[in-house]
Amino acid sequence: MKIKEILSADRPSVSFEVFPPKKDAPFTPVKRAVARLARQRPSFISVTYGAGGGGNVNTSRVAAFVEGECGVTALAHLTCVCATSAKIRSEIAALRKAGVENVLALRGDAPPGVDPSSGEFPHAADLVRFLRKNAPRLCLGGACYPECHPECEHLEDDIAHLKDKVDAGLDFLTTQMFFDNNDFYRYLAKLRGKGITVPVLAGIMPVTNGRQIARICKLSGTYLPSRFKAIVDRFGDNPPAMLDAGVAYATEQIIDLFANGVNAVHVYTMNKPEIAERIMANLRSIVAR
Ligand code: FAD
Repeated sequence: MKIKEILSADRPSVSFEVFPPKKDAPFTPVKRAVARLARQRPSFISVTYGAGGGGNVNTSRVAAFVEGECGVTALAHLTCVCATSAKIRSEIAALRKAGVENVLALRGDAPPGVDPSSGEFPHAADLVRFLRKNAPRLCLGGACYPECHPECEHLEDDIAHLKDKVDAGLDFLTTQMFFDNNDFYRYLAKLRGKGITVPVLAGIMPVTNGRQIARICKLSGTYLPSRFKAIVDRFGDNPPAMLDAGVAYATEQIIDLFANGVNAVHVYTMNKPEIAERIMANLRSIVAR
């Protein structure tokens, strides 16, 4: 099913992100985690691309498993940094074979020392234009950044680039994780003001590991509100307590988003079904179909 159709239903939607196994790593643990996540009946499951060098071999394999064996709509991520059009064509063919109808079109991050804009596809918008021309039936999503993409100095410029990307043919957007919903609400108002009207999925990362979060926020430029910092300071060294607090924080963020009219939330599960299950248990009546 196309994600734009799922998002057109006027009811809360929760989807999940998973990552594929690294190159040559066993497939079974990921399969087991994905099957457990699928039992939560998410609107769809997205599968990241390239992380750890797994490339599309494992992305399309996991996406095929999501669609074929779990019976859940899959969204395959695809990056274009350093890629040739021949490579992108072969990726599209693999996804078509896997029965995938939805692609998250991304630029990705270049390896150290490489200028990301030096290749055939300098920006994700170039990939979107290519996919629209060569695979017009795909439903396409793109990434966006409520706190500005780390490489862009001004949010206004980042939004102008985003408008170009959406106009190239995106059907929806998914945000980078954020921990202060007000950042998302302000950002959404700006996007709408600039004429970006496609659905925007709010990216929520349940943080259950105190040590990990400082590193993730530094890399992504994500702001940690003082309320959240206090949780990490108090419970960061106590894994079971941090798990309880992280699940509660993510649940609260999601309920606030739904209460304020946001209909689509994308949960970065980090392949941990036990965390997603606890969040979904807290949302049972809210997302009931
Ligand atoms: P773009 O939209 O191309 O933007 C990148 C930068 O270029 C921005 O600063 C933008 O303002 C600027 N820019 C765009 N157009 C122009 C222009 N015409 N002129 C000048 N500047 C311009 N990475 C992975 O490797 N694998 C994944 O699976 C993956 N999944 C992701 C999922 C989500 C929801 C998100 C938010 C990110 C994901 N990423 C993933 C990370 C992403 O690839 C990086 O953040 C990357 O740095 C930017 O990708 P993009 O598609 O947003 O790029």
